[in-house]
Amino acid sequence: MVDLKGQYQSIKEQINTSISQVLDTSTFINGPEVHAFQKELEDYLDVKHVIPCANGTDALQIAMMGLGLKPGDEVITADFTFAATVEVIALLQLTPVLVDVEPDTFNIDPKAIENAITNKTKAIVPVHLFGQCANMDAIMEVARKHDIFVIEDNAQAIGADCAFNGKKQKAGSIGHISATSFFPSKNLGAYGDGGAIFTNDDDLAHIIRGVVNHGMYRRYYHDVVGVNSRLDSIQAAVLRAKLPRLDEYNGKRRLAALKYSQALKGQEDIVVPILSDCCLARDSDCSCHVFHQYTLRILNGKRDALAEHLNEKEIPCGVYYPIPLHSQKAYKDERYNEENFPVTNQLVKEVISLPMHTELDDEQISYITDTIIGFVKG
Ligand SMILES: *Cc1c(COP(=O)(O)O)cnc(C)c1O
Repeated sequence: MVDLKGQYQSIKEQINTSISQVLDTSTFINGPEVHAFQKELEDYLDVKHVIPCANGTDALQIAMMGLGLKPGDEVITADFTFAATVEVIALLQLTPVLVDVEPDTFNIDPKAIENAITNKTKAIVPVHLFGQCANMDAIMEVARKHDIFVIEDNAQAIGADCAFNGKKQKAGSIGHISATSFFPSKNLGAYGDGGAIFTNDDDLAHIIRGVVNHGMYRRYYHDVVGVNSRLDSIQAAVLRAKLPRLDEYNGKRRLAALKYSQALKGQEDIVVPILSDCCLARDSDCSCHVFHQYTLRILNGKRDALAEHLNEKEIPCGVYYPIPLHSQKAYKDERYNEENFPVTNQLVKEVISLPMHTELDDEQISYITDTIIGFVKG
């Protein structure tokens, strides 16, 4: 699904030099690389504060701790996402409230959010799923109206542009706080685990810097219950080498997506993901997908047979995600009603993701799309 080796080969010299510099200085934790990466990412995203941490799941948890959410507070998030989002809500003894998504973007449905709000609702966690921005204009409006926090889960969309307020802004720079992941296969991937929290709020940033460091604001004075969550210097060195290439990498993903869609568009039983024309014209103000995943919908019950066919042809594919979160054993809740999740319940039967990374060539793309077309025509 992802060719990490090919990408490494293309930047090997720089990466190796960066890593050996960390080895030479032997400042493995909180070294200058971590600080420099933090500043560079703040500039890239145009946010005031980036706080690096150990992984994306921690980043979400720390964001919720920093906002001071308390057991019993309700947090609304999407039913169709990776489990990390709902997991940390439950771990903190907050009450997850899962809501349905939109069929075209796969992202949380602002109308469903509005319907789920109660007087206990304290936060909304939109996930920019597969690299596509959620509808931030509508979500921020609901949040403002009800005075609740917005925590962006930006693990799959770093570098994406979101249309917001008639302009474009980087995904993760719009809500009160955001979380991202540098897991190796993410769009900005380290060579191990990593994550970060972003915010424009000075007070919140200060709180979070203590939370990630055992609740310390002064050495050995523990003012709040914190965690230990750090990005190590070797990962920061890798990320510093890759950050200047992030736009180029996302561009390569977008181009591969365009080629997939040009070949597959109009085929019966296939719905290709949205790739707006305004996104290809670089100066416009529209949401611009960065294709963490390239995900098709395969209609009329043919998805599983297609997956099997692709496996036979040794083409990797994945189903993200096969089970709605509200149906997972860990997150079932009698408050949920199947008729509130028509879109997620349908998507889990239809979605299939194709190989997506920075090293896909035309030959691979044609082989994959020819195989799929052969199957649906077959
Ligand atoms: C990857 C991911 C996470 C978690 O990131 P880790 O670094 O693996 O902990 C959270 N949310 C979403 C949507 C993700 O895709």
